[in-house]
Amino acid sequence: MKIFDYMEKYDFEQLVFNYDKTSGLKALICIHNTVLGPALGGTRMWVYDKEEDAIEDVLRLARGMTYKAAVTGLNLGGGKAVIIGDPKKEKSEGMWRAFGRFVQSLNGRYYTAIDMGTTIYDMEIVAQETDFVTGIPGASGDPSPVTAYGVWHGMQACAEEAFGSRSLKGKKIAVQGAGNVGYYLIRHLVEDEGAEVIATDIDENKLNKVVDEFAVKVVKPEEIYSLDVDIFAPCALGAVINDKTMEQIKAKVIAGGANNVLEAEKHGEILAEKGILYAPDYVINSGGLINVADELKGYDRERALRTASGIYNNVKQVIEIARRDNVPTYKAADRLAEERIEKMGRIQSNFIPG
Ligand code: NAD
Repeated sequence: MKIFDYMEKYDFEQLVFNYDKTSGLKALICIHNTVLGPALGGTRMWVYDKEEDAIEDVLRLARGMTYKAAVTGLNLGGGKAVIIGDPKKEKSEGMWRAFGRFVQSLNGRYYTAIDMGTTIYDMEIVAQETDFVTGIPGASGDPSPVTAYGVWHGMQACAEEAFGSRSLKGKKIAVQGAGNVGYYLIRHLVEDEGAEVIATDIDENKLNKVVDEFAVKVVKPEEIYSLDVDIFAPCALGAVINDKTMEQIKAKVIAGGANNVLEAEKHGEILAEKGILYAPDYVINSGGLINVADELKGYDRERALRTASGIYNNVKQVIEIARRDNVPTYKAADRLAEERIEKMGRIQSNFIPG
């Protein structure tokens, strides 16, 4: 990979290599774009086959955060950190403290948080060395209720477009995954909306919990795609819209909390051709980011939920751009983000004396 060519092509600002001999820390911090505000993004700890894979990952993930913050309407940029190492074996106090000092050295251009392989307790150690860390114990807490709240509102925007009303009353909704996000989403759908939910999970305990608490039907995991439903809500793993599942989907709307729902971009094109409305994952599941970003203002759960309800408008804007430009919604989401960054960048270029 030609790093500077890649950084030029996608407008990256900064890529920092951090090494600490004492603790063995090998970390990369990437700041993609800070036009809207300081970069925010989690720290991923992972075993990479090659160092190049870690570089590619941090660049790709940081850019993804820029887009997510921008479509969400947050005054934040995109960044990410990657630590090369086995999260089960290679964590130590020294490593987290060294990492915290590196984050601090960026002087607030980058705020960190948890991601795959890191926990709120790791971040508690990081916080001993830096002011620029979010999602530590006692702060914003579990983001899942806010994520689910945002998915619910984004789903309403899709329903308005596809069925003519934002109400989900009586709508048949297939929810894949009854974990953290799925659980709270099912609760909103059943209790607040009166929707007819059919759920699945590979973990029977998770499924039993929603069956015990709410009026939901259940199906086997492999049956969820082909159900005759109005809405499919993926809330488990990624790449669930792929060559195999595409043929089975009967839903008119795909709107859920999972990340990386489309296996490839071509699946976004095919959904659009079939007239299936897809709520782009990073637009509709941004409640988690909203929750953690709220910490920067002094955490207030009510405000976080209020902001997450704005995902309704964000999804509507994506649908409008898709119509305006005659593009699939996944592309329209990128355009919404790019247009906001461009506009705000120009507004902020006005000189203010003082
Ligand atoms: P989770 O692990 O709590 O829940 C996922 C559930 O999916 C589990 O109960 C698991 O058993 C189930 N599952 C796994 N494979 C399955 C399969 N093949 N069929 C059916 N069920 C299956 O995770 P979560 O925090 O609820 O996150 C769910 C998704 O939402 C993930 O893709 C995550 O990246 C994304 N997401 C979560 C948040 C958040 O705030 N938690 C924010 C943004 C995005």
